[in-house]
Amino acid sequence: MIYAELQQDTLAWQRALKFAGMYRGKLDGLTGPLTREAAAQWRESHKQLQTRYGRLDKRTEDNLLTLQPLAALKVRQMMTALRALGDWRLICGLRTYDEQDKLYAKRPRVTNARGGQSMHNFGVAADVCLFRDGVDIWAPSEGPNSIYKPVAVLARQLGLVWGGAWRTPYDPGHVQLGELSTATLHHAYTTGSATLAQLL
Ligand SMILES: [Zn+2]
Repeated sequence: MIYAELQQDTLAWQRALKFAGMYRGKLDGLTGPLTREAAAQWRESHKQLQTRYGRLDKRTEDNLLTLQPLAALKVRQMMTALRALGDWRLICGLRTYDEQDKLYAKRPRVTNARGGQSMHNFGVAADVCLFRDGVDIWAPSEGPNSIYKPVAVLARQLGLVWGGAWRTPYDPGHVQLGELSTATLHHAYTTGSATLAQLL
């Protein structure tokens, strides 16, 4: 989900704002002054990161702005470094619960995760892809010549978890902030009982 769409889905938007510690109201799906105030705070924190690290390509920015600011800081640092090496773009940031459920229903199957079971549902994970001549290179190559080597190196330097270290599934374009369980994140995210900063 890109940033412009996220703001149209009030409940998903409130959950993101609450998890960032910016929204003090209820998760009721109704836009009011508290939602707008928190939204302004979200925009401001992302703007500060843009000013500090520089604006990236549109697709990357559209996805970066959906991430929790704590995750966006590190993912943006990684993207800035990757951009110096090639046409790396962010192709996925936050995926709302609705989006995840739709993805889950797809046949042939593309994911085993329902809404609330993917790290992407909480704005703490992102997928990066290398483009060549405007086309994304999907083939995940392993071994010493893997195109994902710089992603692995940067993720380690920045303290991000890298999906290329996994075997089920091997996911070298995936990075995430921390190794919290999806159950813990799901509970906090949907009830508003804790912010990301409190969980980390
Ligand atoms: Zn991912």
